[in-house]
Amino acid sequence: QTCDNASKHIAVLAFPFGTHAAPLLNLVLQLSHACPDTVFSFLSTEKSNSSMFPMKLDKVKPFNVWDGLPEGYSFRGNPHEPVGYFLKAVPGNFTEVLDRVVAETGPRALFVHADTDFIRHHVGIDGPQDMPLDFLPDFSGIRVADLPSGITSGDFDAPVPALLHKMGQALPRATAIAANSYEDLDNTVVNMLKLRFNMYLNIGPFNLVSSSTVDDSHGCLDWLSKQEPASVVYISFGSVITPPPHELQALSEALEEIECPFLWSFRGDPEKQLPQGFLERTRPKGKIVPWAPQQKILEHSSVGAFVSHGGWNSVLESIVGGVPMVFRPFFGDQGLNTRTVEGVWGFGLGLEGGTLTKEGAMKALKLTLCSEQGKKMRDRIGQQKELAYNAVKPNGGSSVENFKTLLKVVSNKLTL
Ligand code: UDP
Repeated sequence: QTCDNASKHIAVLAFPFGTHAAPLLNLVLQLSHACPDTVFSFLSTEKSNSSMFPMKLDKVKPFNVWDGLPEGYSFRGNPHEPVGYFLKAVPGNFTEVLDRVVAETGPRALFVHADTDFIRHHVGIDGPQDMPLDFLPDFSGIRVADLPSGITSGDFDAPVPALLHKMGQALPRATAIAANSYEDLDNTVVNMLKLRFNMYLNIGPFNLVSSSTVDDSHGCLDWLSKQEPASVVYISFGSVITPPPHELQALSEALEEIECPFLWSFRGDPEKQLPQGFLERTRPKGKIVPWAPQQKILEHSSVGAFVSHGGWNSVLESIVGGVPMVFRPFFGDQGLNTRTVEGVWGFGLGLEGGTLTKEGAMKALKLTLCSEQGKKMRDRIGQQKELAYNAVKPNGGSSVENFKTLLKVVSNKLTL
């Protein structure tokens, strides 16, 4: 599918933290491929752009916006801090660069990346944590406690909740909302979103529709090919999170005790942060790396369980790999994702008390790797995998059709 309109310019504004900007850039690359006459300007911070634009692209141009950090700022380990500084600089940092973008690239047009929490205004303030959200179709298995902080309790004026609240109010005015998901993952929720917004288009999973280069400099795939089928625990808490020391200790002890092979993508220094002697003792069975080709790992037949923070990209990649998950959520949508996978979709487990303890991790891993319940989870995620692949089938796949609709919107061929 292509769009054959005269040359246009589209500016894309990214949220430059966690794994938000990279999937957005993937979408832009797909749009650019289909609309060769359109110029895209991609606005993000220098740090985010420099990690994603290894080569110069003709029609997709990065523009750096100010990250809002004070002079001489050094990161002290709290991932929320730079987000707070950045959001204080928004929208001034974007509008300043947009003026330059328009001057350099000509025609004015705007495609704003929106990401928000759709159920925020349906919940009272400081309600009981165990209250189910049964006033929303398909949400009766979700509790107030699973919502991101700053929605029904916590600091409503903190930068991220304030941003999400404003986005929630702005979304009904959007011509179209494109999301990194697929229709059959949750029909009830998708239908609800379609009723609420002008045009709600699931066009994912992005990890199935865009190809990325595989960096396996640490030999993870080779190592996996020497393991038994569905035996390995893969551990990754995303691109920013390292669990607190006592939880690292608990997970290490659990891994040691159940003696399963494990592959751990570790943010930090494993020598310093994992229990003394753990690396030596587990060397025959375990592999710890600073970065892993996660998607390929999850598609490998040796992987039996994925211990994750519940980031959305990780959930989609686990579906595509058909690997059941064990969750230790930290912030944002991670709690909601955990609860939905465990309680509604049924292909993963939360931990008792929500954090990593030795007993809790052992129980969850044993259940996932070697029990009837684990087998059922694997079957369910296998069914989701099939639905995800169906969504991206070239002829008639729902995400492919939705992408065509998005192209029409982008090329102004569809008027509401
Ligand atoms: N990822 C990876 N290798 C690693 C750790 C993470 O490729 O060693 C990728 C993973 O495949 C996913 C992304 O980083 O695409 C993490 O995204 P997610 O939304 O799960 O979490 P976030 O990084 O936003 O917290």
